[in-house]
Amino acid sequence: MPTLLPPKQYTAKLADKTVYNPKFERYSFELTEPNKLEFTAGQYVSMAITNEGHRRSWSIASSPEVDHGFELLIDPKPMGIGTKYLQNLKLGDEVKLLAPLGQFVIDDSGVEQAIVFVATGVGVTPFRAMILDLLQLKNDKREITLHWGLRHVEEMIWQDEFQELAQNYKNFHFHPVISKASPEWPLCRGRVTDCLSIHELPANAGYYLCGRETMIEDVTNLLTTKSVARERIHREKFY
Ligand SMILES: Cc1cc2nc3c(=O)[nH]c(=O)nc-3n(C[C@H](O)[C@H](O)[C@H](O)COP(=O)(O)OP(=O)(O)OC[C@H]3O[C@@H](n4cnc5c(N)ncnc54)[C@H](O)[C@@H]3O)c2cc1C
Repeated sequence: MPTLLPPKQYTAKLADKTVYNPKFERYSFELTEPNKLEFTAGQYVSMAITNEGHRRSWSIASSPEVDHGFELLIDPKPMGIGTKYLQNLKLGDEVKLLAPLGQFVIDDSGVEQAIVFVATGVGVTPFRAMILDLLQLKNDKREITLHWGLRHVEEMIWQDEFQELAQNYKNFHFHPVISKASPEWPLCRGRVTDCLSIHELPANAGYYLCGRETMIEDVTNLLTTKSVARERIHREKFY
């Protein structure tokens, strides 16, 4: 594991917000004090959302190259106090957070000969930061594959970015999987776990799983049957 910096208290201001669709909302923050956040791709922020000490954690979606701010991607469906807190923020409103946190980062020991990301829904968030970091900053030449499961094709965001990365970096492969796909959907349909099992799953790759708990358990079981060692399977559960 890379050396991770200790977390610090930050204040930041909401700089931009995009509601892509009912499934995904993006919040972009500009740091005020301190004005620079160094983090390792895959880490998260913990935001203070009430004066009574309630906090919520959100993975950083942006590349570590952007150190004057950070982006979050939210699935608003839980609609609890954290979601409502973000939705009620106006541009310029200040937030307090602790960052960077978490150990869901790429193993840098050199043992992982390829990287396989498996996400459902908003679980893709830390992977965007990791993929941008590996390809654009680290110029990593290993085979890097993203399997991303969504229910409906209309929910998909960032597909242009992922497809462009796949065109520009021959070692990056993007495999969206749609569970409720129309007959025209040309790629894999069903559960991401089923689509994953039709691919080669080398035992010397690192597997990074984020999203629904059932997917994480199913994919872990699948990988175990393929002789992937447990320490090569890295998991992040959002709730
Ligand atoms: C390390 C870490 C990173 C995270 N990163 C992200 C992220 O990048 N984007 C993101 O949207 N969330 C992320 N989460 C989840 C996030 O912290 C909140 O739990 C989520 O935004 C809901 O907060 P809430 O206050 O609105 O709902 P809560 O009051 O926390 O939950 C309301 C209900 O919804 C359920 N629930 C909570 N989260 C989900 C979910 N994701 N899907 C379905 N049901 C849920 C809860 O079990 C509860 O029953 C992360 C969590 C952790 C621990």
